[in-house]
Amino acid sequence: MSEKRQFRAIKGTRDILPPDSALWNWFEQTARETLESYNFREVRLPIFEETELFARSIGADTDVVGKEMYTVEGRPPQEVEEFRRCITGHGSRIKADRFVLKHLVHDVEQVVPELRLAVKAGDVPDTQENQKLLDGIVAHGARLQAHLRGEAILSDEQVLQLSQTIVWAAEDLRLGEAMTLRPEATASVCRAFIEHGMQTLPGNQKLYYVGPMFRRERPQKGRYRQFYQIGAEVLGQSDAPAIDAEVLEMLLVLFKRVGLANTTLYINSIGCKDCRPKYVELLREELRKIRDNPATTGKLGPDSQRRIETNPLRVLDSKLPEEQPVIEKLPRISNHLCAACRQHFSELKDELNLREICYEENWRLVRGLDYYTRTTFEVTATGLGSQNAVCGGGRYDGLVELLGGPGGVKGIGFAIGTDRAILSIQESGNLSRLPGLSVLIARMGTKAYPVAVNIARKLRACGLAVELPPQEMKFGKALSLANKLGARYAVIIGDDEVTSGTFTLKRLADADQRTLNESELLEYLESERRGSGA
Ligand code: ATP
Ligand code: MG
Repeated sequence: MSEKRQFRAIKGTRDILPPDSALWNWFEQTARETLESYNFREVRLPIFEETELFARSIGADTDVVGKEMYTVEGRPPQEVEEFRRCITGHGSRIKADRFVLKHLVHDVEQVVPELRLAVKAGDVPDTQENQKLLDGIVAHGARLQAHLRGEAILSDEQVLQLSQTIVWAAEDLRLGEAMTLRPEATASVCRAFIEHGMQTLPGNQKLYYVGPMFRRERPQKGRYRQFYQIGAEVLGQSDAPAIDAEVLEMLLVLFKRVGLANTTLYINSIGCKDCRPKYVELLREELRKIRDNPATTGKLGPDSQRRIETNPLRVLDSKLPEEQPVIEKLPRISNHLCAACRQHFSELKDELNLREICYEENWRLVRGLDYYTRTTFEVTATGLGSQNAVCGGGRYDGLVELLGGPGGVKGIGFAIGTDRAILSIQESGNLSRLPGLSVLIARMGTKAYPVAVNIARKLRACGLAVELPPQEMKFGKALSLANKLGARYAVIIGDDEVTSGTFTLKRLADADQRTLNESELLEYLESERRGSGA
């Protein structure tokens, strides 16, 4: 007997149901319009990419790469598995015996070219690691072959060791492609930029994306495992502070349009590849002193202790109350920026003032991801508890080159956390401009039916949301249904209306009622729609 069970959405994922989905669509639509008014254009990206893309760009010792990625290994074609087995199958029979050795060497010579072809064809990942392993197998195989031919004499021990190394290398080959559900999209935008040679297009490229991201985090309010972002990136030769300022202006214009109240913009500069390493070293030394001084040694928790060596900047991110007093006394990056970075930051602030953008400087804003340089920023909103960041971003001038792209390409961008932005709007109750169901059509009598079908089609063509119930209904019942569904108007069609060629229109908010002919009805509702923005 099959077990009766109910399925539920996977932990950390959720369904966005009506009426919330309308709010989501409206939010995303407003974002598209706002970003496009700044001449950003959409890029649609895959939601999974090679794992290495994220590992390399986000940084191996970040939480995202270390703990939060959803990674799967693709399955290689069967014949590729069999090629590998030709070599690994020798594992149990390794002996310093000419006959056994001949077989191994023969198989290596047969199989390695096939594996190389598979790499070329894209069936096996073309990674440095795989290339190294294949090169190793070939080199060891050649030494064994020379030994068999009497050109080089190896001891039994050497023969065993080389054979074993060949088998291990074959076992270590990664035949399936490692793929990861994207935890963020900046790396993908850069990958696409490079892949399509977009640096040759005129001017800076201004791109935006909308879609889901995936991180295995502890789910809580405002933190999900599948969440959504709207992001924008500017990539190109220029890193003028005016670009940073325009990106921030656009962000705040959007937040204002969607009624995201009480936001705060925090900005910082974390220097460049010239000045940041020196500051990081200084920070590390100071943190080591704190750790090693008996008077302060217990002041840093285990995470921060570890980060002293792996990523000291991240210590500044700490929210642990007991760490705050020591962190506040640490050296600040603003005193250690090189002249060029200091000037960039100061010009950015001038640009923000020119645009009448309020901001707060926050020297501890370093952001979680490794690739940031110079400008970093974050926007917080109210009503979200401790998950109050609705947007994060910054400059990443070396990222395109780090991902194998052309040198000299600069970048800046942000990602808005749509889930949190919408939560904050909902908490503030600022939803009055949302479109909803406009019209319910109520009919009574067989002659009314074709009239109802016809007028429903015409109203929908005018852009109104129309509900035409499949059955006829007493008018009292129809009005109460219209109310429950949140319609603004009911159009009533009974025998009288059919005879006189008119419609009775009832406004539900105040029961205002009027009789209109078809063109008057269309004109009236159409102008109401334009007025309400619905
Ligand atoms: P946080 O510090 O809150 O974890 P983050 O620094 O990891 O944020 P970013 O990688 O900069 O976040 O992503 C940009 C925005 O995406 C965040 O400001 C937030 O609004 C949103 N975001 C990030 N992770 C999640 C998540 N797990 N669930 C919902 N929204 C998220
Ligand atoms: Mg995070």
